[in-house]
Amino acid sequence: MPRVYIKTFGCQMNEDDSGKMRALLGKDGFVATEELQDADVVLINTCSVREKPEQKLHSFLGRVLPQKRGRSLTVGIAGCMAQVEGEALYKKYPKVDLVFGPDAVHRIADMVEAAKTRRVLDTEFLDAADYTFSSDVDPESAGQLAAFVTIQKGCDNKCTFCIVPATRGDEVSRPLGEVLGEVRALVARGVREVTLLGQNVNSYGLKSPGHPTFADLLRVVHEVPGVEVLRYTTSHPRDIGDDVVACYRDLPRLASHLHLPVQSGSNAVLRRMKRFYTRERYLEVVAALRAARPDLVLTTDVITGFPGETDADFDQTMLLLEEARFQASFSFAYNPRPGTPALRLLDDAVPAEVAQARLERFQARQREVALEEHTRLVGTVQRVLVEGPSAHDEGVVCGRTSTFKTVNFPGDPSCVGEWVQVRVTRGFANTLRGERV
Ligand code: SF4
Repeated sequence: MPRVYIKTFGCQMNEDDSGKMRALLGKDGFVATEELQDADVVLINTCSVREKPEQKLHSFLGRVLPQKRGRSLTVGIAGCMAQVEGEALYKKYPKVDLVFGPDAVHRIADMVEAAKTRRVLDTEFLDAADYTFSSDVDPESAGQLAAFVTIQKGCDNKCTFCIVPATRGDEVSRPLGEVLGEVRALVARGVREVTLLGQNVNSYGLKSPGHPTFADLLRVVHEVPGVEVLRYTTSHPRDIGDDVVACYRDLPRLASHLHLPVQSGSNAVLRRMKRFYTRERYLEVVAALRAARPDLVLTTDVITGFPGETDADFDQTMLLLEEARFQASFSFAYNPRPGTPALRLLDDAVPAEVAQARLERFQARQREVALEEHTRLVGTVQRVLVEGPSAHDEGVVCGRTSTFKTVNFPGDPSCVGEWVQVRVTRGFANTLRGERV
């Protein structure tokens, strides 16, 4: 049986696309392999959200391409870099056989077949009417307690720092029936926690009059028997309305954790980022969500050193960390991306060392805030879904709470898949330690 090796860089959308490719090639007789030297086809699912992931592709191809010597091996580059660079990748890597963007994932079996005899290039964005969401379930999700379900592709926002609209195209919302079908199929395979996935899930269905909204989708998926935890990512603060807030009041299996990217705490910077909300509006949304779900835990994304960011602007970001009490965050120093509108703002570029120093200051305080919040949980009893043995400690198992806390406690792997009560004995910056009650 032909074997496929898929290397995935970047976000959960890429992980999900790689899973779809594994499932679709599986239907064509392929088996997935983790051994590069055993593969007949190697697919590299790339990310271009920052420079570093691009460098990773270059070094990984350095390992793969020599493997073509003396044997037939098809090598393909997928994902956001393939979408942005397309044909140019063939000039850089003449030995590559296949270059395709995210909109072509559903055609993977045909493209791999065609690449045996000629180079394949497919970076066309499909019209919404022609776009196909694959409902095939990743064979590697078998036995997993948690799974992602794509509800949307692309993004219609134009945040000036972001390359996603150029790499993933316009927003298309997946028909609700298809989403439900995949959720039911996953539950039938033992999945108990479902995360709805999209670049900006809150705008689900907004483009098509009469289409179910995101709040409608949450309410319907929440009722699927077997879904014990319902999560979603990624949100845009501007699109969180009262209907979504009400879901936190009404839907007990909707997780008490929300990843709500803010990017900056300064209104001036948010304007230049074209985020279309103010820090005041962001905090209003947070207050409404917390009124509906008092134990709601927030995490976020932050960029430091965006062009024109002053010390005073950055102080606003540090202040927002205190006001919103984020318990974790993905934070980066601004990184100019090709083709993004923010490139026109580089006359006001912030020196790299200043952006880096601000990043380190933000991350240091973020760790302190997380530790303070986790220490406040000492003595409380948390409901934990046990996911597996600890990666580090013998005789210790690990699980997660609805608030997205990782909890380690002494226990036997036989309790994997169970909900257990754990009394917290110690808080760390990223995890909790406890004992089973
Ligand atoms: S909402 Fe903004 S940051 Fe998020 S994917 Fe869309 S353009 Fe990028």
